[in-house]
Amino acid sequence: MVKAVVGANWGDEGKGKITDMMAADADIIVRFQGGANAGHTIVNNYGKFALHTLPSGVFYNHTTSVIGNGVALNIPILMKEINSIVEKGVPAPHILVSDRCQIVMPYHILFDQYEEERLGKASFGSTKSGIAPFYSDKYAKIGYQVQELFDDELLKEKVARTCEQKNVLLEHLYHKPLINPDELFATLHEYRDMIAPYVCDTSAYLWNALKEGKTILLEGQLGTLKDPDHGIYPMVTSSSTLAPYGCIGAGLPAQELKQVVTVCKAYSSAVGAGAFVSEIFGDEADELRRRGGDGGEFGATTGRPRRMGWFDCVASKYGCRMQGTTDVAFTVVDVLGYLDEIPVCVGYEIDGEVTTDFPVTSKLEKAKPVFKTLPGWKCDIRGIKKYEDLPENCRNYIEFIEKEIGFPITMVSNGPGRDDIIYR
Ligand code: GDP
Repeated sequence: MVKAVVGANWGDEGKGKITDMMAADADIIVRFQGGANAGHTIVNNYGKFALHTLPSGVFYNHTTSVIGNGVALNIPILMKEINSIVEKGVPAPHILVSDRCQIVMPYHILFDQYEEERLGKASFGSTKSGIAPFYSDKYAKIGYQVQELFDDELLKEKVARTCEQKNVLLEHLYHKPLINPDELFATLHEYRDMIAPYVCDTSAYLWNALKEGKTILLEGQLGTLKDPDHGIYPMVTSSSTLAPYGCIGAGLPAQELKQVVTVCKAYSSAVGAGAFVSEIFGDEADELRRRGGDGGEFGATTGRPRRMGWFDCVASKYGCRMQGTTDVAFTVVDVLGYLDEIPVCVGYEIDGEVTTDFPVTSKLEKAKPVFKTLPGWKCDIRGIKKYEDLPENCRNYIEFIEKEIGFPITMVSNGPGRDDIIYR
């Protein structure tokens, strides 16, 4: 059986924690898209970890972690991450990397930086991890699959072609140092030696696992609103963040996906540029940012302060619908315990009309939030294990949002730890 954990919004919904928790009952955890541009924060018995490339299942010794073909694989970062968790006493994880997975090249990272520099004020707020140049090359069919590292003759010839093309841009568009083909070739040899122990045909591995009745968990990065097709284009990421794409990015039959757990955070946050209708500012935002998540809402990869806002029912209803949600995991509810009243965005006013349907980007830019204010519960709900034991106003908040978004909230997360979870 295949399950997915994905985000309904802009990312940072708490997917890492939910995946880590669900991994207890899974055999295999697969990353299917994205790269080291976003991170998951996980708190468990070994400590606190920020993972960028490794699936969140690496902390169990009963699971296999798969980097699927859909991922933007940064080989040195993967190696660094493996070392960093082993150093902290986590048993060496069992990791498999798809032979069809493509590699983030050193020049992808440079091009990401140079392009953001060139765009100046019009930049995307990229994490400069090379993700957009990587996926551009993948779809322009000039990317490098892992398997290509193992054929020197073809590799040498391809490196020469790559340098020719990239160096035109470096010289004439960016005015930056050129790539030396011999150096690039040598770097790719280093990459080959680092990755060799992990490479295999992961879709065949997953197929066999399915036949043996194993449970496979697909772990999404970012959220619906960052999907290149269905998100707030162009302020999106470069690979699909949707659960159905998980089957493509892992190499699994789509009809095997039986459970989609969409993670929604009890308030909103976003990184990077782009419309964010329920955004708040000033002291109100600072306080929520400081209290948010586990130690504040700051990017796991960049440390940037996240943009903050109230829960957005319009965006989340759409976010859940596009994922094919079977279950909503509603996270970080404990953080809201300090508020007397909690505004919730229940509609968008666009050109004088109120809608609850998430619009296309040009209309989204004009949307103003319509808020409804709910009473707060003014207490600490951490440690509560049963839904009935939550304060009434907290249950009302959850049930109000459940009704607005139209998908069942089956899990409520009231703390960062694995066990801070209430099942309904
Ligand atoms: P992801 O990218 O979706 O995994 O999200 P993040 O890594 O940004 O996770 C959000 C942050 O919230 C992390 O610091 C988590 O440890 C923390 N977190 C997750 N669930 C909860 C929760 O229910 N309560 C609190 N207080 N923190 C949580």
